[in-house]
Amino acid sequence: MEIIDAHLLDQGEPVGAKPSGVRIARGPHGSNVRHQPTPQAPVPRYRAITERHFDRIPQLASLPGDDQFAMRVVSRVLPFRTNRYVIDELVDWSQVPDDPIYQLTFPQAGMLGEDEFRRVADLVTRNASSGEATPVIQAIRDGLNPHPAGQRELNIPHEGGDPLAGIQHKYRETVLFFPSRGQTCHAYCTFCFRWAQFVGNSMKIYAKQTDGLHRYLGAHPEVTDLLITGGDPMIMRTSVLSRYLLPLLDGPETAHLESIRIGTKALTFWPHRFVNDDDADDLLRLLEKVVASGKHLAIMAHLNHWQELSTPVVRTAIRRLRDAGAVIRAQAPVLAHINDDADVWRRLWEDEVHLGVVPYYMFVERDTGARRYFEVPLERTRQIYTDAIAKVSGLARTVRGPSMSAGPGKVEVVGVQEIRGEKVFVLRFLQGRNPDWVGRPFFAKFDPQATWLDQLEPAFGDERFFFEDEYDAMRRSAPA
Ligand code: SF4
Repeated sequence: MEIIDAHLLDQGEPVGAKPSGVRIARGPHGSNVRHQPTPQAPVPRYRAITERHFDRIPQLASLPGDDQFAMRVVSRVLPFRTNRYVIDELVDWSQVPDDPIYQLTFPQAGMLGEDEFRRVADLVTRNASSGEATPVIQAIRDGLNPHPAGQRELNIPHEGGDPLAGIQHKYRETVLFFPSRGQTCHAYCTFCFRWAQFVGNSMKIYAKQTDGLHRYLGAHPEVTDLLITGGDPMIMRTSVLSRYLLPLLDGPETAHLESIRIGTKALTFWPHRFVNDDDADDLLRLLEKVVASGKHLAIMAHLNHWQELSTPVVRTAIRRLRDAGAVIRAQAPVLAHINDDADVWRRLWEDEVHLGVVPYYMFVERDTGARRYFEVPLERTRQIYTDAIAKVSGLARTVRGPSMSAGPGKVEVVGVQEIRGEKVFVLRFLQGRNPDWVGRPFFAKFDPQATWLDQLEPAFGDERFFFEDEYDAMRRSAPA
């Protein structure tokens, strides 16, 4: 069962009617003009808005009936959650359905295959019982590759033959930690590879305590980086987050830990977390303690579109995080319907640099969930990266990619070349299950339609990529 903080529970009120203090209007040339909160504006309070509230989001009422129905159908299979800030301040409703934030958060018909959509639509139309609907929906979810990249088989360390709760260890230097109370988000991204856990199809790897993590870190001095991830750890109250963070700051088991990263999209899905929430100041003080301990604190922000950076409150949140000593690094995949445009990325990176956020990763959409709707061919993704990076200053060229977070590691699509008369993709590992793979170029036959590593074939007549035998051996030796 999903565990969430009490303040996230739905209060059953109408939604979307009361702006949270920052208003949006259309300016000249289609630009968004945003107004500062009025002095009398109430302090915004977070409330989760789910598929049970579609009827109470006034903005949806003006959409075609088919779109509203499709939303109900798709949200039976894929998770939906948003909040008033996203609806009222981020989505530009005059541009719907093309608005990128609308696409980022609201379910769309194309996210399911035609046959899948028809079957679920039939269940919804007939108001079928859960006994009839659940197996159909579960079978569709199972067909959407809910646990990609060997997360379940390969990444979970064991202790005394048992899996260690809340920990994944894929790359030598970096351990991922999943606190049990941080496994949901202020809003869900329609493309997210964590969709399965949000609909209850989780790997149940979450940890309530940090004891196992401390033992594991104590036994692994090669680990220098800890990524606290979710869901979104910033969904937790500061008092809860501090129970996970403070024990990491001293003690021999964690002395070799140089960096603590926190993966989050709260910065743009609920920036009030760092500004107006009743424990926002406590949160900033907590982060200051991490920095004062001598460890590098990195906020790994999911930023999909520059529109997310355009409200005053998000800019205040960024400033407050930077003042606390955190370094904010930004990452996102290239997604059809949202950001498959070089100019969008150019402006996103420019805005990030302007605000003091470091562009970090451009990803390829992962092979799970609603990929059919979002995936972009590798060749086009690479072209978007190349076109965007050519237009920004050196300060924005810190971004790496496009990169596939695949089972063997993070594989960068470096470029397309003709070598010995054969057109090939040039690839290399940015991270690998075996660190010796990192940086080594390898080559795949050019395929303009391919969207993921498993669709590529080795070039130059080779039977296998150089890492495949070793990767297969890793999979065979993984605990059942
Ligand atoms: S991308 Fe991040 S914020 Fe979005 S649903 Fe996934 S974990 Fe949550």
